[in-house]
Amino acid sequence: MTFLSISHLEKSFGANRVVKDFNLPIEKGEFVSLLGPSGCGKTTVLRIVAGFESPSSGSVTIDGQDVTGLRPNDRNIGMVFQAYALFPNLTVAQNVAFGLKVKGVAKAEAEARVAEMLRLIGLPDLGGRYPYQLSGGQQQRVALARALAVRPRVLLLDEPLSALDAKIRVSLRSEIREIQRELGITTVFVTHDQEEALSMSDRVVVMNGGIAEQVGTPFEVYNRPTTRFVATFVGTLNLFEAEADGQGLRIAGVPVRLPEAVEAARGGRLSVALRPESLHLGGGEVTLPATVEAVEFLGSILRLRLRVAGVLVALDTFNRADAPPPALGRAVEVGFSARDLVVLNG
Ligand code: ADP
Ligand code: MG
Repeated sequence: MTFLSISHLEKSFGANRVVKDFNLPIEKGEFVSLLGPSGCGKTTVLRIVAGFESPSSGSVTIDGQDVTGLRPNDRNIGMVFQAYALFPNLTVAQNVAFGLKVKGVAKAEAEARVAEMLRLIGLPDLGGRYPYQLSGGQQQRVALARALAVRPRVLLLDEPLSALDAKIRVSLRSEIREIQRELGITTVFVTHDQEEALSMSDRVVVMNGGIAEQVGTPFEVYNRPTTRFVATFVGTLNLFEAEADGQGLRIAGVPVRLPEAVEAARGGRLSVALRPESLHLGGGEVTLPATVEAVEFLGSILRLRLRVAGVLVALDTFNRADAPPPALGRAVEVGFSARDLVVLNG
């Protein structure tokens, strides 16, 4: 059952239409990411859900209640921002207790709730510290604890990891997800980082120019992108121009018979896409000649840059200690299976 519903949301700033007929039903306990480039309207959608911004039209309902006209404090929503918005003059415990105080929660109850939250974020002993005495990652965990202390119905996270170092960013992904699962709290997470969105979410909304271009599981969005924008924004992609003739395709003159699952336009030119991991060295169901132009050793992955039909493509294989990479300039064959093709008609 839908718990949080965003319906026909529109937002303009002056003549600038930044959110366009945005619709998103979210299940209770679901973790949904809004993924898109800077300026595509992610924060605006989140701020409208929180009540910091009012929509030009459309509505937001939580648990069956229309909250569109309610003030932020009356919505019972928790929010965490990119920059650490902790109160610098309050201790960690006072920060976490802040919302409880505003709500008039009794002292003993508030203290118990603060202890519970500090335990949840893995900082049970740091209640007496001040924000400046914490690392960036610890500060964001405290911000999360402060947002969760009031037991909100919905948790909104606006790029909460963007300001952190790479390593902490990655470890906090799974920590946030674990906490979210433990509480079963319905969560909307905003990010421009596709790896974050893919690794953390139950579903991903790929946004472009105020529009939700595709909504799906990380697996669906990555493997079956429905638009060219989604295909190129999410993950690395090799794009080929192809010609359709009603029977199949020709890529660089090589005929490709399409399986039934892959639909192509009846005729004319179109683009087809292949992920780096869908290509392999040596012949396959479809084989194209190629030249090795560069080799990138990424540790567990070996990424080859190949020239295929005039196009520079990426081919990924797992590292194997007994299979050294091919020499630069070498002529090779690249194989793939037609069912891995993504046909982009638009
Ligand atoms: P994102 O979070 O995806 O980077 P935003 O939602 O912050 O994008 O912004 C979307 C667009 O709306 C941008 O073009 C931005 O400049 C504009 N915008 C956001 N807030 C305001 C505002 N208060 N006044 C005018 N324009 C705004
Ligand atoms: Mg933003």
